[in-house]
Amino acid sequence: MTRHNSTAALRALDAAHHLHPFTNTRELNAKGARVITTADGVWLTDSEGNRILDGMAGLWCTAVGYGRDEIVDAVAAQMRELPFYNVFFQTTHPPVVELSGLLAELTPPQFNRFFYCSSGSEANDTIFRLVTYYWQLLDQPQRNVIVSRRGAYHGSTVAAAAVGGFDPMHAQPGLPVGNVFHAPRPGWWSAGGDLSPEEFGRKTARETLALIDGIGVNRVAAFIAEPIMGAGGVIIPPESYWPELWAGLKERGVLLISDEVICGFGRTGNWFGCETYGTEPDFMTMAKALTSGYVPMGAVAVSDRIADVLIEKGDEFTHGYTYAGHPAAAAAALVNLRILRDEKLVERVAEDIGPYLQEKWRGLADHPLVGEAVMKGLVGALQLCTDKTARRGFPEGVEVGLICREHSFNAGLVMRAVGERMVVAPPLVLSREEADLLIARATQALDRTEADLRKTGVI
Ligand code: PMP
Repeated sequence: MTRHNSTAALRALDAAHHLHPFTNTRELNAKGARVITTADGVWLTDSEGNRILDGMAGLWCTAVGYGRDEIVDAVAAQMRELPFYNVFFQTTHPPVVELSGLLAELTPPQFNRFFYCSSGSEANDTIFRLVTYYWQLLDQPQRNVIVSRRGAYHGSTVAAAAVGGFDPMHAQPGLPVGNVFHAPRPGWWSAGGDLSPEEFGRKTARETLALIDGIGVNRVAAFIAEPIMGAGGVIIPPESYWPELWAGLKERGVLLISDEVICGFGRTGNWFGCETYGTEPDFMTMAKALTSGYVPMGAVAVSDRIADVLIEKGDEFTHGYTYAGHPAAAAAALVNLRILRDEKLVERVAEDIGPYLQEKWRGLADHPLVGEAVMKGLVGALQLCTDKTARRGFPEGVEVGLICREHSFNAGLVMRAVGERMVVAPPLVLSREEADLLIARATQALDRTEADLRKTGVI
């Protein structure tokens, strides 16, 4: 049907009937949505035939790139064989069994049990229930506080949003924010002041531990964080942050939930972000690149010490989603993970395309608008600013990120704007030529943004 409709007709129908997530519908409808019709490798094509380099891997998902027939064929075959069956009533099916075995091989050694769902949000909600159940089984039911971080995104279900630290989400009603505390985030550029990044990393870790001590360690069930904060603007922590924080959490017996929805499956140059930063979490939240987004799937990795208690002491865990371990999703995940493993895409991020893109990306810090240009593995950010030395941003009302995002799209590159930070997380299959193009187009977007700001007298 799509192919027979014109762009204008699709836009009109979309405006009439589709409510988009995280979108001001009035503004979108005045303008019309961009219609993406096909994709291949790292390239998107829109309904007007424009080819756009997808610097965001969909929404941090398509690690293996678009158009992988192996995944499509496996999903089609699975849907012919067994399109659906549940895993509730003492039943299972081959793809979910094989996937669990493969995940046990690929995840850090403490993880051997997996619980499935269809998204990162659902995975986090599952973890919050597992965590409090675990403490209840250990006769410590008062340990029911989750400590998270300001600016963190952990999903949009009610619990995940409440635990997250996104101010605009908390500003709208409906979140039951009991038993949640938010620690500072380790974003040196905006909060580091006169400290060196390393001093600031240690200070932020200590403030987090002090927050936990203030609440009372015997009340804190778990600390949740992404190894690198993604949707919050790709906040790459100073190297001092995680070692200091991890040592303190371990000492206090506070469980660590590593939200690997963005960092998992190679993004940071290791299979999981916790490996990049040397932590040993009790839970991992997984989604997105688990299937490269081809079919929705989320999963929770549960460490042995938690699983042993749940299995030995626990009763029925009264929680589950109809689509848990969906056969088509499990089939997609299996092939996707084998591609990542067999094509050595994670190693490629660590040793080849990661360092290649990082060096060029860091060079963008020479641009007059860029305060810092940071990248780890294949996830990076540009901080836009008016004064690099004073680390000063833009006046209220100047939506510099949105201006730059528009120029970027028009230059043929998807970059995402998070406030005054431009972020990228391209597919892990990005070639060197495509990396060069990404940099050239990002530069073009920055130049055009600068020209606009000069024209309007902002700078
Ligand atoms: N955790 C993190 C770190 C995320 O980035 C996201 C989504 N961007 C989620 C959880 C929620 O995942 P989903 O949108 O699949 O529910």
